[in-house]
Amino acid sequence: MAADIRVFTCLSDNFGYLIHDPATGATASIDAPEAGPIARQLDAAGWTLTDILITHHHHDHVGGVAELKQRYGCRVVAPYDKATAIANVDLRVAHGDVVKIGELLARVLETPGHTLDHISYVFDADKAVFAADTLFSIGCGRVFEGTYPMMWDSLLKLRALPDDFRLYCGHEYTASNVKFALTVDPDNEALKARADEVTRLRSANQPTIPTLLGAEKMANVFLRADDPAVAARLRMKGANAEDVFGELRERKNKS
Ligand SMILES: [Zn+2]
Repeated sequence: MAADIRVFTCLSDNFGYLIHDPATGATASIDAPEAGPIARQLDAAGWTLTDILITHHHHDHVGGVAELKQRYGCRVVAPYDKATAIANVDLRVAHGDVVKIGELLARVLETPGHTLDHISYVFDADKAVFAADTLFSIGCGRVFEGTYPMMWDSLLKLRALPDDFRLYCGHEYTASNVKFALTVDPDNEALKARADEVTRLRSANQPTIPTLLGAEKMANVFLRADDPAVAARLRMKGANAEDVFGELRERKNKS
């Protein structure tokens, strides 16, 4: 049976996500930015939280864990500690591990760069990937703890997923990402189409997520750092993808 996925807002611009298995009633929250909105969504749907799948240690992804665990007695799944420890964890996972949420299966991809511990969860049967702060729509996360080559390698792992997978990311940053992307990739028709779509969605107060990975591969310049046209645009003809990616990220930091 197909998973039921709910998208909502937590804090100022974090996404909250619940993924529910209708066959068993199991329900996971992807990260826990804050307990209140997650509990309200659970109540509205009539679901009980069985699991929290943590992607990385940042406070805006784990701030609600303790309260939710106390309230629901749910299992907390998280990456192994790297630079900063994550508290209240029941199960540690690494690359290639598969987590069961009822009958739903979540495959773990290690996607470091934003943080060293960052992981993404891939629900292959439901064609959904929760990439948190590694891959945003038309952008990517800031590289705080890792290196540019490390982050580029993580983006390649996500880019390798099929085109018909839906991307669920950690923040509603799409409009500002589009604004920057148009400065470095102004002739990209897929980007222009996405820009129109994002304007439409945001003016209707709708989330820009999920988005199809196939569309993202064409429109997101951070996934195209190995495209010679992007290197040429940055006056970096012949440069390797890691360096082009680093230049893109630096420019975005300053934008
Ligand atoms: Zn983060």
